[in-house]
Amino acid sequence: MLDHLNSERITQTAAIKRSLHGNRAKCLQRLIRLGMPVPETVALSIPLVRAIAAGQRPDLKAILDQFGSWPVLSVRASPVEPDWGGPSTMLNIGMNRANQAFFASRLGAEAAAELHLRFVRSYAVDVARLDEDMFEDPDLTVKQAYDAYEDEMDEEFPQDIEVQLLEVLKSMSRAWEGTTARLLRSSKGAPEDAGLGLVIQRMVLGLGKGESGAGVIQFINSESGEPQKVGRYMRQSQGRDALDYTSGDDGQGPLYLTKDNRGGSLEEEQPEVFAELERVGQLARKGLREEMQIEFTLEGGKLAIIDAIPAPRGARGDVAVAVALAQDEIISTEDAVMRIEPKAISELLHRQVAPRARRDVISRGIAASPGAATGKLVFDALAAQAAASQGEACILVRRETSPEDIRGMHAASGILTERGGTTSHAAVIARGLGLPCVAGASDLTIDNKGRKVTTQSGRVFAEGDIITLDGTAGEALAGDVPKIEAGIGGPFEQLMSWADAVRDIGVRANADTPEDAQVAKMFDAEGIGLCRTEHMFFAADRLTVLREAIFAENSTDRNAALKRLRPMQRDDFALIFEIMRDRPVCLRLFDPPLHEFLPNSRAGIRELAEAMDLSANAVRARIEQLAEFNPMLGMRGVRLGITIPEIYDMQVRAIFEAAILVNRSKGPTVVPEIMIPLVSAKREVELVKTRIDAVAAEVSAQSGKTVEYKLGVMVETPRAALRAGDIAVHASFLSFGTNDMTQMTYGLSRDDAGRFMSTYVNQGVFPEDPFRALDRDGVGELLTLASERGRQVREKITLSVCGEHGGDPDSIEFCREIGMNYVSCSPYRVPVARLAAAQLAI
Ligand code: PEP
Ligand code: MG
Repeated sequence: MLDHLNSERITQTAAIKRSLHGNRAKCLQRLIRLGMPVPETVALSIPLVRAIAAGQRPDLKAILDQFGSWPVLSVRASPVEPDWGGPSTMLNIGMNRANQAFFASRLGAEAAAELHLRFVRSYAVDVARLDEDMFEDPDLTVKQAYDAYEDEMDEEFPQDIEVQLLEVLKSMSRAWEGTTARLLRSSKGAPEDAGLGLVIQRMVLGLGKGESGAGVIQFINSESGEPQKVGRYMRQSQGRDALDYTSGDDGQGPLYLTKDNRGGSLEEEQPEVFAELERVGQLARKGLREEMQIEFTLEGGKLAIIDAIPAPRGARGDVAVAVALAQDEIISTEDAVMRIEPKAISELLHRQVAPRARRDVISRGIAASPGAATGKLVFDALAAQAAASQGEACILVRRETSPEDIRGMHAASGILTERGGTTSHAAVIARGLGLPCVAGASDLTIDNKGRKVTTQSGRVFAEGDIITLDGTAGEALAGDVPKIEAGIGGPFEQLMSWADAVRDIGVRANADTPEDAQVAKMFDAEGIGLCRTEHMFFAADRLTVLREAIFAENSTDRNAALKRLRPMQRDDFALIFEIMRDRPVCLRLFDPPLHEFLPNSRAGIRELAEAMDLSANAVRARIEQLAEFNPMLGMRGVRLGITIPEIYDMQVRAIFEAAILVNRSKGPTVVPEIMIPLVSAKREVELVKTRIDAVAAEVSAQSGKTVEYKLGVMVETPRAALRAGDIAVHASFLSFGTNDMTQMTYGLSRDDAGRFMSTYVNQGVFPEDPFRALDRDGVGELLTLASERGRQVREKITLSVCGEHGGDPDSIEFCREIGMNYVSCSPYRVPVARLAAAQLAI
């Protein structure tokens, strides 16, 4: 332990550990081992930095001795992970009046004064925490800076390097303990007790005689990750000055690195240095097995490598870099797969707000569906359709959405709702459509009549105003904001194929329509794990017919409506079978929470009244009759199937007819999987199975073809989980509907929980939103129990999850642990699931 409280010179053989000295120290040691010209560097371990923060005095003499007589040093943060942040770098520690005179003879008076001034400025602002404004004047002299410092501090500016260094170390170590720094790094996944290492380095000046300056170079484009030499170099500068330099061309500005850029370039003016930097880049890439951004300094024409960090980039760049490193055999393909955060990959599948774009946030809600879109605000489905027909992008704003909004949602470029969470209607549909969605934006007040929204701060946005939705961050932004395009090209495909090669749990897609099935296929889903057949009725001309079937008071009327629906369903099923020809398709029989299908607007009621030739009042009365206090626990799923069996009969017939139709053409035989929703008792399965078999026999007799199918049950009520043994007698597969299972296990409404979920998570009642990340302890126990009971009765029964958790990496880990055969999730989450599943198998 005592050893760790000593500073250590970084050499080829020093015992530098990332966990003890941080990433920067380790990285610098690697650069030294690669033979790069890194100035002398000393590492302070995490325990030592902690001791300094607690008021202990390090052995400054021992530290300074390691730099011999050289009078100026820098200190940099060295956290264990580079993206955990840390206090900013301090340069030129050691500058004082005597050193100014020393450097004046070596570098010239002007450069020496500049060095001195730079240090006084940064010490005053970053260590003494004086107001930045006091030192901003570009014509400030050293004397004025001293006066300003001494005036404010009532003490002389320290001249002793020991004092200066101690204050810098104290200040940096304490900044790490501050609340802002803690919050920042915990958002990047740093543990509560994450420590900071520091590195102290001999300053290479970048100022003075000969070719002197500093710059930064990297060998990839930060956005795409494709090879490109980018960076800047500025004469008579230090650190990252060249990158920060923004003002106009005064002859002092930075040089670009290559000839391709306009203006002067380092490549042309210092070809040997440039060639050396390229060599260094190659060496770092191979040696550190990473694309690095390299900070370098020239002093009198001599190159020093000061620092290197992973070249900054987004998810798209990460994928391109990992794939290129594996293709060049610098890392293994498994390493490449492990390097990509699965959740981040969804960034590649959608357009995104550009990482450095200016954001004027007007509302924050739940990031319900990723991607970014800009458009005119509209407040209802009709306005969305009208905008789309004019070729104008629009963002549909609703309190919450219902099937009546479907046409509008199809027409919109993004969806913003005041209520709801990750499994609300708006969220599920938007994910299926690949549209960005921000749900539960409860800081907005929507005035539908006045066609405007008011933000918490009182800003008003009216219909037609332009906003941008960032569904990845869960934010609405004012105006049009720059975006970057989706990036599912070559490197993405390559990475996914490596992932599939190691994966040992299946990934299917939840796809409700032929369009969804296309997307599912594009993302290489192994089949469809859940087709919510009621969603097929959302399309333009079908909702009213479906409502007629539900509303009918006698079987003649009902059958007439169902007759019209059957060919629509059959054609859709046939298309889906065709698209997924070589892969299984699991169709869930009708499972509508009735309230989602009842008209709730005046226009909707009138439309239905016309279709059914009833008065609006009669329709209203029927709606009241069907209304339920708790529709999510009402006449849903199999309950409707048993109460009004004609609906399931129609669906099953449509499925069989579609299979027969497709099987007529050459190709693998389609064997539909038919799934019964919201089961809680074995008898429900028996009743439905008897009717399915009867329809199968009828269709078979009529068509002369044998009709094959597999029957499965959705386990989504706690009782079904407990009685899975009984149920498995009749089921060749069980699919866990973890959305409803979570809702019912917690007694927590999936549609309303968004209102208090953040309070619950913030106060640690729930570690995470259980609709997003599967609750292993409670819901997970039911799943485990049901799997065991199901397998006891039917050893080879297929088990899967088709709730939204199927696309969540942690939940997939659980599913794999309890031996599920596959997970099924929204098509756009299929790549996330494929990658997460692969990482679990490596
Ligand atoms: C579920 O409950 O998890 C499920 C997949 O069904 P739905 O979301 O359609 O209720
Ligand atoms: Mg369900």
